[in-house]
Amino acid sequence: MMDNPFCFDWTTPFGLPPFGAIEAVHFLPAFVEGMRLERAEVAAIVVERREPTFANTIEALERCGAFLRRVADVFSNLNASHTNAELQAIARETAPLMAGHRSAISLDATLFQRVDAVFARRVELGLGAEALRLVEKTHKRFVRAGARLEPAEKLRLAEIDSALASKTTLFGQNLLADTAAFTMLLAPEEDATGQGVVTLQRSSIEPFLQLSPRRDLREKAFRAWTARGDNGNEFDNKALIGEIVALRRERAQLLGYRNYALYSLDDKMAKSPEAARQLLDQLWAPAMDTARREAATLQQAMDEEQPGRRLAAWDWRYFAEKVRQGKYEIDGEATKAYFSLERMLEATFWVAGRLFGLELRERTDLPKYHADVRTWEVWRADGELVGIFYGDYYARPEKRSGAWMSSLRDQQRMDGNMTAVVTNNLNFNKPPTGKPTLLSHDDARTLFHEFGHALHGLLSDVTYPSLSGTNVPRDFVEMPSQLYEHWFEDKSVLGKFARHYETGETIPEVMLSKLKAAANFNQGFEMVEYLASAYVDLEWHLLEEGEVVEVAEREAQWLLALGMPEAILMRHRSTHFSHIFGSPMGYAAGYYSYRWSAVLDTDAFAAFEEAGDAFDPAVAELLLRFIYSAGATQDPMALYQAFRGRAPETGALMRSLGFEPR
Ligand SMILES: [Zn+2]
Repeated sequence: MMDNPFCFDWTTPFGLPPFGAIEAVHFLPAFVEGMRLERAEVAAIVVERREPTFANTIEALERCGAFLRRVADVFSNLNASHTNAELQAIARETAPLMAGHRSAISLDATLFQRVDAVFARRVELGLGAEALRLVEKTHKRFVRAGARLEPAEKLRLAEIDSALASKTTLFGQNLLADTAAFTMLLAPEEDATGQGVVTLQRSSIEPFLQLSPRRDLREKAFRAWTARGDNGNEFDNKALIGEIVALRRERAQLLGYRNYALYSLDDKMAKSPEAARQLLDQLWAPAMDTARREAATLQQAMDEEQPGRRLAAWDWRYFAEKVRQGKYEIDGEATKAYFSLERMLEATFWVAGRLFGLELRERTDLPKYHADVRTWEVWRADGELVGIFYGDYYARPEKRSGAWMSSLRDQQRMDGNMTAVVTNNLNFNKPPTGKPTLLSHDDARTLFHEFGHALHGLLSDVTYPSLSGTNVPRDFVEMPSQLYEHWFEDKSVLGKFARHYETGETIPEVMLSKLKAAANFNQGFEMVEYLASAYVDLEWHLLEEGEVVEVAEREAQWLLALGMPEAILMRHRSTHFSHIFGSPMGYAAGYYSYRWSAVLDTDAFAAFEEAGDAFDPAVAELLLRFIYSAGATQDPMALYQAFRGRAPETGALMRSLGFEPR
């Protein structure tokens, strides 16, 4: 440990991780030391003889584990962005250690007694709003982890969690195997996508369903795709679904909830399954109307090509693509010339300047873990440092796929102000030296999205680390990021930054309007297939004791009650719905969150539209105060209402999708 960088204060600029000095061999001993230190810190709280107070219990708990957090933050970032076999082995070794470490703390009966005692007196303690919120959140975290249970119940909870871990893992492995079990070789004349073979991966079958004129092959592939996990073979997931649903219900009931949906929603923004369902209900009828109109258009296109046939589920994507191409004809390559990474970065930063008075100054001399990583200081107009922003934009074999924001250090000021260190990771293709990085319209949007998350971390202005930045419920966390995408669509931003990388010419108006119209195409279909999955997810987790679980029948019955159209299937049928069955908790009873966030972001942006200015200073100030800087210091619904002056409404989302309200 003597030469382990985690054992020393970091003398780097801004106390950034000294990446040059950190080696893989340092992590395991640092994890072990971090857990030892946190156990000792927690033990000091437990043996405290004085009466439990906010300071000696709740605040003391907030201080625990700082060493471990520093190790875990650096490790998880490196393992995601720049991994290798050594780091992956450390991840496998430390994951169960960390899980055991966490649960030992949350199930410590004496510790919980102290937390519970402070919680019971929380009102009379005269705490500030943020401290009160911290007491409530800490208490709830313990209770939801099982702190209130009798010893025998704690044992049962551990059994359930371990059974859920193995059954959901098996669900995922079955799904992988059943997905891989089907391939369809294509003769050259059948191969509209040039893949040679169709697999049941979304990235293979979706283009095939869009482009193959062979109706018989589309039907065959579509039926295989939608039957994954439901083939009655060794990889069938139906029995597992029954078991997973029953285990989750038992877990919820142990903790005092009637069903799993009530348990899951209790610490979300929506708070209750009814509220989530109400939102889905508001979208369902208008989405169905739109889907019906879309179906009529597609049927027309089909009548021209194959008269006398009725549009089926395996026809939808094919004719939708035909109609889309006929209507919008977008040349993706030509579009890219207007979205260079440099200009789009300038654009995201400029918007942050207009809205929140931020200025980003690039530094080339800060510690980093890969030569392609870029670093910026983030300053406020009043001359105060907000934090440090890391941008890691290029795909590498050592990097996880997708795009994400994460944190190397959370903002807090419990013991002096600690600024945030935040990262954005994307996976753009790196151009040859000297060539610009050109982004697709979607990639440029993703850049804005992730920078929205980054701002939520950077602008955080709270006292306690648990309440900092993006530590908010899942149905709220996408709001600041999706909201930021709206400035990507704003004319003043595009006019200024969507310029040809060679000529500097502004993106042509017709190209822009085509991109915009194309984005709204087929939204009825997409909403209906999404909503059906979201409803079915809730239904599974609302089931109560004694109800027989017959997967296929249940699903069919719920869809019938909805009035699901024949030509649209659920986006994810239960037997391959890995969002909700592929991990112990995952998105179980939470698939609604995606559209919940969409309602919030469109409704929030409408506040600027109503003010007549996408950068209206008064609205921006409220947005900063109650959303981007507030972390989890208040209930998310209360924060939203404080920003918007009312509860969220679905009207703005429906207008943006071209839906007509009923
Ligand atoms: Zn996101």
